Amino acid sequence: MTRGTARTVAVVGAGWAGCAAALELARAGCTVTLLEAARTLGGRARRVEMDGRQLDNGQHIMLGAYAESLRVMKLAGVDLPAAMLSLPLQMRYAPGAGGMDFLAPRLPAPLHLLGALLRAKGLAREDKLSLARFSTTARWMDWQLNTDCSVDELLQRFDQTPRLIQLMWRPLCLAALNTPTDRASAQVFLNVLRDSLGARRKASDMLIPRADLTALFPDAAAACVARRGGTVHAGAKVTALAQLPDGRWRLSATGAGLAQLAGPAAASGAASPWSAEFDAVILALGAPGTAAMLRGLAPLQALATQLEAFTPEAITTCYLQYDGNVRLGIPFYALLDNPDHGHWGQFVFDRGQLDAAQAGMLAVVISASGKAAGLGQAALAAAIAAQLAAVLRRPELAQPSWSRVVTEKRATYACTPALARPANATGLPGLLLAGDYTAGDDAAANYPATLESAVRSGVAAVKILLKNK
Ligand SMILES: Cc1cc2nc3c(=O)[nH]c(=O)nc-3n(C[C@H](O)[C@H](O)[C@H](O)COP(=O)(O)OP(=O)(O)OC[C@H]3O[C@@H](n4cnc5c(N)ncnc54)[C@H](O)[C@@H]3O)c2cc1C
Repeated sequence: MTRGTARTVAVVGAGWAGCAAALELARAGCTVTLLEAARTLGGRARRVEMDGRQLDNGQHIMLGAYAESLRVMKLAGVDLPAAMLSLPLQMRYAPGAGGMDFLAPRLPAPLHLLGALLRAKGLAREDKLSLARFSTTARWMDWQLNTDCSVDELLQRFDQTPRLIQLMWRPLCLAALNTPTDRASAQVFLNVLRDSLGARRKASDMLIPRADLTALFPDAAAACVARRGGTVHAGAKVTALAQLPDGRWRLSATGAGLAQLAGPAAASGAASPWSAEFDAVILALGAPGTAAMLRGLAPLQALATQLEAFTPEAITTCYLQYDGNVRLGIPFYALLDNPDHGHWGQFVFDRGQLDAAQAGMLAVVISASGKAAGLGQAALAAAIAAQLAAVLRRPELAQPSWSRVVTEKRATYACTPALARPANATGLPGLLLAGDYTAGDDAAANYPATLESAVRSGVAAVKILLKNK
């Protein structure tokens, strides 16, 4: 960096981690270049057009505990109450479906939990006692384990009843960690529960996006970056990264998004001659993309190997369009999945209650969906429609007028016990990592692959960069 000029920083990847990093860098006065391979910003949480409908690559849910995400969204100028529907903590199955109705009243913590427990329908006395026992024991342990284990093992140690496991812990673990309980990290599960169930009432609120996921934050962050003199290139795939003898970094990229910088070769989408030098680079690519990029840097081979060990877990969302008058009793229900009976859906969201333009659109989510996705699009959509018709006792739901199954095979990484996560710092000055897979300050700060872990990581990478000027 020349004295008196702003530090130039490239952020590679405009998922939520990259967008949070770019926003914070721009606010700190750096000259930011944000490069994203796809045409739409947002990465694994982005808008997707399907037959003229503006939907998402997958239904997402946030928590009041997502403090960093909410903070950066606000910084980017997002009107939070308008952008998301805020609901009290709940796990509500459709009436008569053999589930339970657990809904926290709007009381200060921990009375909201106590109230929910006392009022809960569909749980026997021993199930309620079991839930109370979980909460007391976890608090007594300060939500920390000496040695991480699987969620199944934790539930056994906490003597949880089979019904509570089936109706509460298993669906919560799948939704939060996207990893089945027999393989999921108990410590990370406890971290999420500590920050939501165990914190003030608002932290346990469930926030459901009304806006599409690209509008919800990435577009707003990019606009802020541009207003502060940065540049944002969607459709610009970084192909190589090299450290220069003076310690700066050179990036090479290709793609139509570089047209204005690189001339006709890039505009045609052909391999472009575009390359540029930066004082620093933040790689915000997700674990597999980062590993591939680091393979080009001799000193970082061990780090690349560590990242390659992250194993992917899929999430499937099935969108079903019905007549505009079709409406669920509440914005979302939990569903009892039972693959042996063709019941794959785990949650159903009524998009019409979030956005009037989507009246009659239901979104059904399946976490850790590898097996379900194997059924194929048409068979899975038909099975889900049949499940909704049976469980909600509404025969008309068996026949949607339109449906689409979206499976993200690499939605998250398997969040397994004692997973070895890399730090933001790579050891090479001016090169940092950001993404939902990096380590928190300690085991108690590790989160699963979520929007919050992505944003936290982006913000943490910037802090390190600014500290080491
Ligand atoms: C279907 C689904 C449902 C989910 N549900 C939830 C939920 O309910 N709640 C929740 O909190 N989380 C949820 N998640 C997880 C959450 O979306 C992710 O953890 C988060 O979006 C990861 O963000 P990231 O920025 O770390 O990575 P990514 O979003 O993967 O961002 C990486 C970006 O880098 C870009 N890129 C890759 N290679 C290059 C290159 N060579 N050059 C330039 N750019 C490149 C990619 O296109 C991408 O935009 C869900 C994920 C999916 C897929």
